[in-house]
This record gives sequence, C-alpha cells and structure tokens, in this order.
Amino acid sequence: FIYLFDFKTILGKNGVPVAENFRLEQSTIADTIQVGQVLVRTLYLSVDPYMRCRMNEDTGSDYLLPWQLSEVADGGGIGVVEESKHDNLAKGDFVTSFNWPWQTVAILDGRLLQKLVPELVNGRLSYFLGAAGITGLTALLGIKEKGHVAVGANQTMVVSGAAGACGSLAGQIGRLEGCSRVVGIAGTDEKCSILVQEMGFDAAINYKKDDVSERLRELCPGGVDIYFDNVGGDISDAVISQMNHNSHIILCGQISQYNKDVPYPPPLPPDIEKIQKERNITRERFLVLNYMDKQEASVLQLCQWIQEGKLKVRETIVEGLASIGAAFQSMMNGGNIGKQIVSISK
Ligand code: NAP
Repeated sequence: FIYLFDFKTILGKNGVPVAENFRLEQSTIADTIQVGQVLVRTLYLSVDPYMRCRMNEDTGSDYLLPWQLSEVADGGGIGVVEESKHDNLAKGDFVTSFNWPWQTVAILDGRLLQKLVPELVNGRLSYFLGAAGITGLTALLGIKEKGHVAVGANQTMVVSGAAGACGSLAGQIGRLEGCSRVVGIAGTDEKCSILVQEMGFDAAINYKKDDVSERLRELCPGGVDIYFDNVGGDISDAVISQMNHNSHIILCGQISQYNKDVPYPPPLPPDIEKIQKERNITRERFLVLNYMDKQEASVLQLCQWIQEGKLKVRETIVEGLASIGAAFQSMMNGGNIGKQIVSISK
C-alpha cells in the first residue's frame, strides 16, 4: 500500500489540513532490485509540522520541496532491509532516511539510507525519529547554538509547544545544560502535569485556559532569559514582552502560523519588535539541517541521556499506514504528547 498526497479538499490560502488531503492506494513494486538498491519493509513513519509547508506550492524554504499532487508523500522513516544489493547493507539491518516514502514496502537507493544501532536507544527504534533523531537534534543544537545557556548564571528558560516532540526535550535539555528554572507552555492540563511531574519542568501554563502573561509574571519573577519558541503568534508575543535585556529567542518553529499565508519567520507585531530591539533580544533563524556536521556526536549525547534516564521520552503512536493522514492532522491540532509516530509494521 502506498499513501498519496492529494487535494480532495483544496487547502487554498490559509487552509487547514485534514486527513482527506491524503489518499491510500494499493500498488505494485518491481519484482527485482538493481545493484545499489535495497528492498525495505517500513516499520515507523514520522509526521511533522514542516509537512504543512510541503503542502504549499511555495514551501517558504529552499531546502523543502513541495509535495506534488498524487505523488507518494515522504518524510522521516525507519525500516528493515529485506533484501540488499548494496555493499554496506544486509538483510536484517535497520535503516532510516529523511525522505522515506509513505509505503509499507519500498525499493530504495542504499546510498540514501543511514544504518541504525538499536542498542543505542535500548531497542526503541522509533526514538530515532524523535528523541535520538532530528527532533532531539533540534532541541539540543537549538539550545547549544542559539540559547547561550551558561552554567551557574541562574537563567530562566520558557518553552512553548512544550509537551510536543521538540518542546518536551528542549525543556529537559535546558535544565541539563544549566538553566535553573524551566517553564513550559502547552495546550492541556494533562500535558502541563506531565511536564512538571515527569519531565522535571518547574511549572507549566495551559495557554488555552490561563492568562499567559499573568502566569508568566508569577512563574518567572526574574524575567525570561531564554525562550525556546515552537509556536510564534500571541503566545510568543506574551513571552517576548517579559524577556530580559540581552536575552535569547531560539527560533525553532512557528506552528501557530503554518496554516496562514505569511512568510517564514513571520515578522513580530511592531510593539513586540520594538521591545525585542530595545532589549537587544536575539531572534536568529535556526535550522537544524545547517548543523549536520554535529549530528553524530549530538545523537550519541542524546542516546546517553536516554540510557541514563536523564531524558524522559514520550511518544504518541498510532498503528497502520491508513492512519497517517489523521495522525498528521491530530499532531497539528495538539493531539500528541511527545513525538507523533505512525507504526507501520512490526
Ligand atoms: P510537536 O510539538 O510534537 O507537535 C505540534 C504541537 O504544536 C501540537 O502538539 C500542539 O500542542 C502545538 N500547536 C499546534 N497549533 C498550535 C497553536 N496554534 N498554538 C500553540 N501551539 C500549537 O511538533 P514538533 O515536531 O516537535 O515541532 C515543534 C516545532 O519545531 C514546530 O514549529 C516545527 O516546525 C519546529 N521544528 C523546527 C526545526 C528546525 O530545524 N528549526 C526542526 C524540527 C521541528 P498544544 O496542545 O500545546 O497546542
């Protein structure tokens, strides 16, 4: 079975994606594989916010190509090699790619696959799509490259989208790197209580119920030194208003703006931009793919923290290729806690 990206419902300007934007079809693949190719069975697929940008003709980024109508969609994936004609890959190897086709089985170019070591994540292979994959790298490298965390500096970090894949790791990594206070912002009471009770956040704000500005004033009495921004929009405006002089925004993502027809990164409202400039708050675009020279060492660091129990990992897993469109829609609407994963086969 393969999953096609389709426009049954045309998204149009400012459109909201729905499960019906995707169509499942049965298809056949070639009987034989060529030299350099491998036949893989898909185990896990990832759905991620950036895919919303791939649903636009103009993705807003040079490195992202738009999905074409009625072509097979693709993204992060993990699978097992069933047959190989590639020198460095053998039957039974676990492999991953950023451009895994949404298919139950596929013939792939072996050169485009990375081999995985399951022991690094205690056998939890799907972690390579999250905490030990691009998500974990985004949290770790975002903080290292743009956060200016200094041990002993008594810094307060605020994380938006805090119970999601990146956010839940970012808060924990902020603490591991030396922040003395970490406050999360998320969309449900359940998420807020997991952040505090399981992930070691000092406090969490439910932005759908609480007055974010008021709660931030209570919970960050010394102001905000580092803001890991996953969402943009009103939440970010409220946080930036309470940031200290010479503080830093880690501009990870702006999910609240992805269904809108605005450039990336979206400009701040004039009054907030004034605050940002007057207080010398940095807000540089961060893109994890620009730091892939640090991938290997960073993945090892993440795996070590996972094995030591210092990094708590949550996943929301749904079963079956037929669920992937709904899983994407659900993740975009906050249905996930931690990384949203689609399990394709065992
Ligand atoms: P995620 O946080 O696991 O899932 C998305 C979450 O966003 C939802 O669970 C939802 O949680 C929240 N959300 C949705 N609409 C919202 C809105 N209007 N306002 C506030 N929150 C909203 O996804 P992820 O994969 O970890 O990605 C998080 C961010 O990181 C995204 O912005 C993504 O684009 C970015 N990212 C950037 C890079 C990079 O290189 N810069 C790499 C990977 C990801 P609630 O229940 O809390 O609303």
